[in-house]
Amino acid sequence: MQSKEIRSKFIEFFESRGHKYVPSAPMVLKNDPTLMFTNAGMNQFKDLFLGNKKEDYTRAVNSQKCLRVSGKHNDLEEVGIDTYHHTMFEMLGNWSFGDYFKQEAIGWSWELLTEVFGLPKERLYVTVFEGDKTDGVPFDKEAFDFWKSHIDEARILNGDKKDNFWEMGDTGPCGPCSEVHIDLRSDEEIAQKPGKDLVNMDHPQVVEIWNLVFIQFDRKADGSLENLPAKHIDTGMGFERLCMAMQGKLSNYDTDVFTPLIEKIAKKAGVNYKDKEETDIAIRVIVDHIRAISFAIADGQLPSNNKAGYVVRRILRRAVRYGYTFLNFQEPFLYELVDVLADQYEGFFDELSGQKDFIAKVVREEENSFLRTLENGLKRLDQIESKLTKEGKKEIEGKEVFELYDTFGFPVDLTALIAREKGLAVDEAGFQSAMAEQKNRSKADAASEKGDWIQVGDDEQVEFVGYDATEAQAEIIKYREIKDKKGKVFQIVLNKTPFYGESGGQIGDTGVLVGDGETINVIDTQKENDLIVHFTNKLPAKPEATFTAKINAERRALIKNNHSSTHLLHSALREVLGDHVQQKGSLVSDQLLRFDFSHFQKVTDEEIERIEQIVNEHVRQNIKLDERRNVPIEDAKALGATALFGEKYGEFVRVITFDPKYSVELCGGTHVNATGDIGLFKIVSEGAVAAGVRRIEAYTGPGAFNYVQEQEKALKAVKDLLKNPKDLSKAIEGLLEEQKKLSKEIEGLHAKQSGQVKTDLIAKAEDKAGIKVIAQQVTLPSADALKKLSFELKNEVQNVFAVLAADIAGKPQIAVVIDEALVKDKGLNAGQIIRDLAKEIKGGGGGQPFFATAGGKDLSGLPKVIEKTTELVATFE
Ligand code: ATP
Ligand code: MG
Repeated sequence: MQSKEIRSKFIEFFESRGHKYVPSAPMVLKNDPTLMFTNAGMNQFKDLFLGNKKEDYTRAVNSQKCLRVSGKHNDLEEVGIDTYHHTMFEMLGNWSFGDYFKQEAIGWSWELLTEVFGLPKERLYVTVFEGDKTDGVPFDKEAFDFWKSHIDEARILNGDKKDNFWEMGDTGPCGPCSEVHIDLRSDEEIAQKPGKDLVNMDHPQVVEIWNLVFIQFDRKADGSLENLPAKHIDTGMGFERLCMAMQGKLSNYDTDVFTPLIEKIAKKAGVNYKDKEETDIAIRVIVDHIRAISFAIADGQLPSNNKAGYVVRRILRRAVRYGYTFLNFQEPFLYELVDVLADQYEGFFDELSGQKDFIAKVVREEENSFLRTLENGLKRLDQIESKLTKEGKKEIEGKEVFELYDTFGFPVDLTALIAREKGLAVDEAGFQSAMAEQKNRSKADAASEKGDWIQVGDDEQVEFVGYDATEAQAEIIKYREIKDKKGKVFQIVLNKTPFYGESGGQIGDTGVLVGDGETINVIDTQKENDLIVHFTNKLPAKPEATFTAKINAERRALIKNNHSSTHLLHSALREVLGDHVQQKGSLVSDQLLRFDFSHFQKVTDEEIERIEQIVNEHVRQNIKLDERRNVPIEDAKALGATALFGEKYGEFVRVITFDPKYSVELCGGTHVNATGDIGLFKIVSEGAVAAGVRRIEAYTGPGAFNYVQEQEKALKAVKDLLKNPKDLSKAIEGLLEEQKKLSKEIEGLHAKQSGQVKTDLIAKAEDKAGIKVIAQQVTLPSADALKKLSFELKNEVQNVFAVLAADIAGKPQIAVVIDEALVKDKGLNAGQIIRDLAKEIKGGGGGQPFFATAGGKDLSGLPKVIEKTTELVATFE
């Protein structure tokens, strides 16, 4: 069965059992402070488990894009080495939110695997939780009994807390789980060693395919467990592993999920897959990593040097490095796989085909820059080598290995490999400790302590009223205290709030909570998944009081201007630059709007002008906002609404329209009532942020007006200086030309002046013991003129000994010039002589035996310089 069919069979199976198909959430997470990437199917349902949100369905099914390269789940170092862990993979899952529990979950998984998919029962094993004394959780007899009705008891194995107890994080929903494992080995191998001895033993052909989690507890901050009122099911099955089992393969990479990519890369490298372990690993690393990279970029996360962007960059570099070292790729190669990948996911994950040129461009640029870094790293290694050879050492220090890792992206194994070729060893322990040090540093930076939520009211749902109101009567549902480096803040959740929590690029509201005779400032509002969290520096004395929650409405009005302008800008960009323009990020604050978008060249001045014109025309048309809430997503799409890649949309969306022919977007932000409110829209900068991504910043309303006024002020100042010419540019052009002419003239005059000085000097030269002595005070336009004059004297006067004490625009300078023959025969040294003379002008200098210069501070010392020279000359014989 082809992978596509396997995926849809899975979905259909659960759909026909009352499950709602929910599309994969983006792999890159935006509103979750605890997680950068989706690492399990349940992430997008977290709020349902936590009770922060309700949906109108209680059963769901999906295939979720997951990435496991950071945090609690990090499989990166295994990937490519083994054949069944990926960085990015699809997790097939079915969920029950307080609906069915163990019996159905177990029964359906068995039915699907053995009857629909026809996997052999005698190759399957299941595990159940053996219990844990410290937690006070008993053996999961319930699960055991349900399994027993399907599978031979001998195939049900016990598992410990590590394998069979699942937790969302340090706190929150958790529970025992049952895993399904499959033994893919040959009958001969099985005869030698039974599969049950290999379950959970990291055997590449006895692998876990499905994990069924029975969420029944809530872990508190003090470590204790409480029973959850509603019990949930959360399952996750590795799609690629299922394909391996279904297609009778022994490696995920031998399934049709990977073979087209492998073919392409092997051909490009001129090798055969399965010829050699070393090249095989490299190929697996590459075909795995390009998926993770492409999906991350498609979901809006570009490679960069921090946080999630750095994770993507590290994955890409690992792939490039394997290609470079083992497949001899000296030029970018990864980007060529994007096309194959996009074709493969067409019809299911269309975010790839929709942006394949953009993704390829970003990948290629990243590859190029890393290949350059690689070269520099190799040079650095050469330097280290020669230093070690000089010192007679044979081991590269840990901190140097770390520098190579940190600055050049060289993993230890690469450094060790190259070092070995050079006959050197690396200090791995030293590297590990340098690494641990850095980790501790960043941990200390990020450390924050979260207290448990303190429940105040019994409302569960938060009602956001901020689209219609700027204040609301509210009660506190819960609050908690957070301590970090910066100090202590409180997070407050209200049952009803007009405060917009930062999301979709729009910053959070500020304002006040007024109640029970006290006013508490809200300094920021953030979203934690779907929860709206108000930040304050203080807790109300009576948390159970009723408050008036009031936002800073003036600030909000400025934010609205900027948000609506972002929509108008987006449409104008597409109109002027083309349909390839995709939003790649935005910031909407009370100060400005910033809009990042895919486009491959600089936006020209003329284009900027047109964009500004188009936006401002739409402002002047005073188009009324058409805001529709709870529109079924399919209807919204039919309206032509622009959905953003990498954005998570529910089943019902909010559609913001300013003229159905101009701007229709899916958006949760706050907007002006009519575009006229914006007043004025002015772009203030345009530039590149990354390969293929441009950024425009603009001001609106009062900000734009102030900006224009400032510009005009500056212009007026210039005009005033020029006495208000009719044509300003012409006037400035004239000035510049005039200046050029004058400079030329001055240059000529200076040359003449120096020429005159020279003639005078030569005329006044005196003969002393066969030496032509020139010692004079002179006035010259520049230090250059002094140098030039000195060299001319040296060339034109034989046996010259010249000391020039110059006044250069009010600053004293000395030059000493001595014929080379005199330097040799008489032992005279300009560099030494000038050191002594320079004291007279309170300065210093030096040079060579035949020419030296010095600068100083005391102009009045110049005559003394000549006097001293005369004394010196008197000693010549
Ligand atoms: P393993 O022990 O094999 O790493 P796990 O215990 O980390 O698996 P879960 O967190 O239970 O796995 O994830 C559910 C399912 O997702 C697993 O049964 C497996 O099929 C799949 N899976 C987990 N990690 C990966 C990965 N890195 N690549 C591909 N599939 C994976
Ligand atoms: Mg794992």
